[in-house]
Amino acid sequence: MIAVSEPLLRIENLKKYYESEADFIDRLLGRKKHVKAVDGVSLEIEEGRTLGLVGESGCGKSTIGRTILQLVEPTDGSVYFKGRDITELSGSELRDLRREMQIIFQNPQSSLNPRFTVNDIIGEALDIHGLEDDERRDARIKELLERVGLNASHANRYPHEFSGGQLQRIGIARALAVDPEFIVCDEPVSALDVSVQAQILNLLEELQEELGISYLFIAHDLSVVEHIADEIAVMYLGEIAEIGTPEELFSPPQHPYTEALLSAIPEPDPRWEADRILLEGTVPSPIDPPDGCKFHTRCPRVIPPAEYAFEDGEWRSVLSLKTRIEDDEVPVAAFEEQVENGADRLAEAVREEYDVPATLSDPDAERVLAEALDRVVVGDREAAVDLLGSEFVTPCGVHNPELRPIEHGRAACHLFDPRYRDGHVDPAGSDDGTAESD
Ligand code: SF4
Repeated sequence: MIAVSEPLLRIENLKKYYESEADFIDRLLGRKKHVKAVDGVSLEIEEGRTLGLVGESGCGKSTIGRTILQLVEPTDGSVYFKGRDITELSGSELRDLRREMQIIFQNPQSSLNPRFTVNDIIGEALDIHGLEDDERRDARIKELLERVGLNASHANRYPHEFSGGQLQRIGIARALAVDPEFIVCDEPVSALDVSVQAQILNLLEELQEELGISYLFIAHDLSVVEHIADEIAVMYLGEIAEIGTPEELFSPPQHPYTEALLSAIPEPDPRWEADRILLEGTVPSPIDPPDGCKFHTRCPRVIPPAEYAFEDGEWRSVLSLKTRIEDDEVPVAAFEEQVENGADRLAEAVREEYDVPATLSDPDAERVLAEALDRVVVGDREAAVDLLGSEFVTPCGVHNPELRPIEHGRAACHLFDPRYRDGHVDPAGSDDGTAESD
């Protein structure tokens, strides 16, 4: 019996770290590196509801699904199903639990055994859990096939005889065979044609209405979860960036990452009118994620330091150039080949290449950047790194924001914390610990 206030599923501070391949130096020094696939995620799913989990490839969303089902062991944190922490269950208890928690995979072609008939595939799930005697078995398989929109006569066919959409229906029938209460839908429509996607989404919704199943619906596309989810969580590099109902999330998106994801949808939601936001660079490696807010290396709205008055867009370009200089990614020698008229022209060429204005609007900021670039072009990169590191510091690169209530839903972003709005790196009067360095 679930306590009234207890959701069907609750995960608390879930972490999954993988040990990564050590390079030669690391092996020599005995150092270990970890891929932080999921890094302290807390979520809840109510009975009969759907939580959409969205993010770019590699953000950790599928790892969350598999960790909830205990297909992979969590590094830390808890998974409560009906109020019970299932990370502490024994092997046999876990096997029993699998009747209640199922998964539908992204690629039906590779998730169904090509040598088995549909009868074998669905029957296997029934057999593993000892659910049906011989007489009931065939009848139950036919009933399931019809329930997912297939024909009972399909039971004797092999997977290669079906289309992608039909295969996914078989995958759904297999998951339903054990009467689960919760299903992880791991990108179940990503491999399907758009017209078929809608049919599968409708089927999942009908099943939920009829059977009261709860879903964790994983997708990389916000438009896919918009219609099926009661709540949507947006993930970036192993953490939740924003969470809310579709209405809260789309009207308009608050977190800069959600804003960029939504702007990338070919036909953006009519409730939100804005240009496409192109994020700089790629998602950083989860082996060595950025300090502070993990999105700060790409965020178009990253907070500037309080000491300088940057105009719109200037700070993003200056911060990106600063990162390139720190990472030794400004190939001065290559610029020298293009430019013949000395250091000034060389610094101009660097600004041009990295979209930094020829002159910054704040004279003090301009002096700092000009001096740093002078040092870079004469080969004194370390001095430039020191200068930029002491003068141009964003609070977003120092403190990791925590999820906090905002006007609509919750978001992990300093823009919604009054203590950070003026760009202070170490805001005084921390009232709830959100300003603690991570
Ligand atoms: S905390 Fe800063 S870097 Fe992170 S999303 Fe908010 S504004 Fe962008």
